[in-house]
Amino acid sequence: MFFKVKKIMLFVLIFVLILLGGCTTIYNPATGRKESFFIDTKTEAVLGKDMAKEIDREMKLSGDPMVLERLEKIGKRVAAVSDRTDVSYSFNVVEEKEFNAFAIPGGGIYVNSGLLLAANDDELAAVVAHEVGHIAARHSVKRLQAALGYQLLSSIALGVSGEDKVLQAVDVVFGVVTLGYSRKDEYLADRLGVKYSKLAGFNPQGMVTFFQKLKQEGKSSSFNLVFLSSHPPIDERIKEAGKEIALVR
Ligand code: ZN
Repeated sequence: MFFKVKKIMLFVLIFVLILLGGCTTIYNPATGRKESFFIDTKTEAVLGKDMAKEIDREMKLSGDPMVLERLEKIGKRVAAVSDRTDVSYSFNVVEEKEFNAFAIPGGGIYVNSGLLLAANDDELAAVVAHEVGHIAARHSVKRLQAALGYQLLSSIALGVSGEDKVLQAVDVVFGVVTLGYSRKDEYLADRLGVKYSKLAGFNPQGMVTFFQKLKQEGKSSSFNLVFLSSHPPIDERIKEAGKEIALVR
């Protein structure tokens, strides 16, 4: 999916915020590592707001209060026990049958109505916790930093404006956010998903039963093949989630 954001504005904004902010190193409890960020939480929030506006325009979001309330209630419980509480989490329902969910920078989480309908509360908690895991581990921010850092450096070296390339970098992140991260990032989000859903009082086995539903769904419709192929093999994820559940019990 591609977003036609007002990209020039976004570029200028990100660039100015990066120049003002400099680089900070923090210990990230989600990854258990010290990590350096030049896109700080404030810049991430600005970027997220812009993406959210674009999603509002491009996707059909549900206004059904019952469905939203269920997602919000579960989402807030999970977010509250996560490793990251310096962003304001928001929960949205996308009117789509396909089993999918994604998180954007700054704490916006989107779950498809088809997934919400098919998942019980433990499974939904696991899915949301997986997305919260991506936010806590700052996966999209790291992707953007990697893409921007290279583009900025090369444009400085060449003495030309790297604006177009930076815009491409922003597109890359939008694509990643909606289609999935690297396998390593997905496995970490699964582990964090198990951890957070358990801490929030849900049965972490929901992660495994959700994957099983996803697998069934993938067999019966051609829809989910994209989702399944862009993520690590589902059987591997079930195995790894099972190991993690045994650890947190
Ligand atoms: Zn993921």
